[in-house]
Amino acid sequence: MNGVSHLIGGLSAAVIFGVHSPSQLAMVAFSALLPDIDRPNSLLGRFVPVLPSLLEKIPGKRTVTHSLIMGFGLWLLLEGTFPELTIAFLIGYVSHLILDLFTGYIAFLWPIPWKVGVPLFGIPPVFVETAAIALWGVWMVLDGYTYFLNLF
Ligand SMILES: [Zn+2]
Repeated sequence: MNGVSHLIGGLSAAVIFGVHSPSQLAMVAFSALLPDIDRPNSLLGRFVPVLPSLLEKIPGKRTVTHSLIMGFGLWLLLEGTFPELTIAFLIGYVSHLILDLFTGYIAFLWPIPWKVGVPLFGIPPVFVETAAIALWGVWMVLDGYTYFLNLF
């Protein structure tokens, strides 16, 4: 999936779980994009030098950055530094993994190299992404934007 779809997925999950604070929504957005740092042309990866290329070449795409072990490690790091952001991190990170499961294959048990995916009845990922963006647009038009207006 592309970065916009992951942002929409993460923020939608945040709305469902009742995340309201701006700092938590920022963490959801960041962690929804973070796993794709293994690609230099991803929404987040294009702003980070060297690391995305290394991650793409050495462990490979959708491996370590899409794994439960990395999610757990980052969760532990946050728990020790910014515990108020751990739930927001989990919402964004897990939403990314779930969306990638339905639109491709990820090695979520990395370093075990098995890649797992759940194809949606053969529907191409671009249709899933387009539907997600369209639904987000409909929700915004139908008063969804007020959720974000009431943050401050
Ligand atoms: Zn991904």
